[in-house]
Amino acid sequence: MKKIQTMTLLIVAMILFMPSVSSGDSDPNQVVEVMIDNIDRDGLARLAEMGADIDGVWGNRARIYVSSGILKQLKALGYRVSVSRRTRDNVSAGYHSYEQITAELKTIANAHPDICRLYSIGKSYEGRDLWFMKISDNPDVAEDEPEFQYISTMHGDEPVGTQLNLNLIDLLTESYGKDARITKLVNEIEIWIMPLMNPDGYAASNRYNAQGKDLNRSFPDRTRDMPVPRPIETQLMMDWELSHSPVLSANFHTGATVVNYPYDSDPNPDLNYSATPDDALFVQLALAYASSNKTLYGSSYFKQGITNGIEWYYVYGGMQDWNYIRLGAFQLTIELSDLSSPPVSQIPAIWEDNRESMLKYMEWSLRGVRGIVTDADTGKALKASVSVLGNDHVMYSDPDVGDYHRILLPGTYRLRFWADGYVSRETGDIVVGSDTASRLDIQLSPIKPGDIDGSGTVDLADAIEALRVVAGVETAVRPQIKADVNSDGRIGLEEVIYVLGKISAL
Ligand SMILES: [Zn+2]
Repeated sequence: MKKIQTMTLLIVAMILFMPSVSSGDSDPNQVVEVMIDNIDRDGLARLAEMGADIDGVWGNRARIYVSSGILKQLKALGYRVSVSRRTRDNVSAGYHSYEQITAELKTIANAHPDICRLYSIGKSYEGRDLWFMKISDNPDVAEDEPEFQYISTMHGDEPVGTQLNLNLIDLLTESYGKDARITKLVNEIEIWIMPLMNPDGYAASNRYNAQGKDLNRSFPDRTRDMPVPRPIETQLMMDWELSHSPVLSANFHTGATVVNYPYDSDPNPDLNYSATPDDALFVQLALAYASSNKTLYGSSYFKQGITNGIEWYYVYGGMQDWNYIRLGAFQLTIELSDLSSPPVSQIPAIWEDNRESMLKYMEWSLRGVRGIVTDADTGKALKASVSVLGNDHVMYSDPDVGDYHRILLPGTYRLRFWADGYVSRETGDIVVGSDTASRLDIQLSPIKPGDIDGSGTVDLADAIEALRVVAGVETAVRPQIKADVNSDGRIGLEEVIYVLGKISAL
């Protein structure tokens, strides 16, 4: 014991005097990557409050990124810290360069113009393109198909997912028309693959973007909106996603081997697990990926290779929670290898481990309930909100075609649809099986002055929609209306008129 403590002190001393790791004499804001020992969940929460960025937790050890100023405070508090193995292992020799990746994507897109379109969603801080490859039949047409996405390497020093995504692009394009399963995926799904979300960090073998920002800590989440301006790469991704309608996706990392599902953040800082309203589904989605991957599934640390985000550790500003909360989309965070940057010679084996998982997970976007939401009078496609009765989660139809794709576990469900200026609708029972999605097209009727029933009340949601359409106001009226809502979820017509009167008097 004594010997270990002496050793720890020695390591701490080494860290503090190593120029690459410690501020030493210089910038106390310089970020340092270390392992910290004998730390419990409370301790991790305290570290997060101090400004440490937690990157992985294994029992009572955690890998964290801290400023060297905070590192000194940790030492003063008696924490045991050591140089992260990950820093020492971080060799990127042999991986494709950004330029090679760009060339490869362009070559593939040019070779398969019938199913590929290569988009740059914008440029990184240092001017590199953020490439998003769309693979689908009729690639120029928004079709009644779910949008699926793989996004890799938000952390620039985690190159494995980049390579796997390139391999997947190769597999999909080369096997199209030859392999029945892959042909079906390309025909029935709009597949989007971004191998490299942080090209500047990648070029520098750095976790952060060129502004020193952690992209997976910069999305608005359940507890905070995150400061603006956001890192440029995060903002570009958010803007792109908000103008599209992803249904199912995953983002790839390394530094651990586990599939992580929401929530990563929670307003309550003391939880051991934070379940979404779709927890049972998220577990099955995570297992769909992990169970075909012997390294993940056989994990000695994570049961069946999966974890709830908070069960592992809190992440604020992560992309997966933002996807679920804001886009209504299901996203997993997949950690592909314990080594952040394993020797490139290991990539073929890692690809073999992940290939079936990547396809199987994609196939889940074709399950549940799907259909098209249109205006009952004109047939126009609508952007509608969709929820399952008894489940608070809201997702949206794609306004281009009006298609919605609500992934669900097998069972019987009722759905609710609503849209600005339309009367909301609830469905009867819909049976969902374990393969192809059940189809249910929905027509919504525009709200007309006569949409008030004999009770003299209107549905609260309809009233809010009507007020929004008529008065162009939502947030201001919602609290006033909520205060007057009846126990049956309806509100008196006179109340609506009263609120309208107040608004018009403004
Ligand atoms: Zn990462």
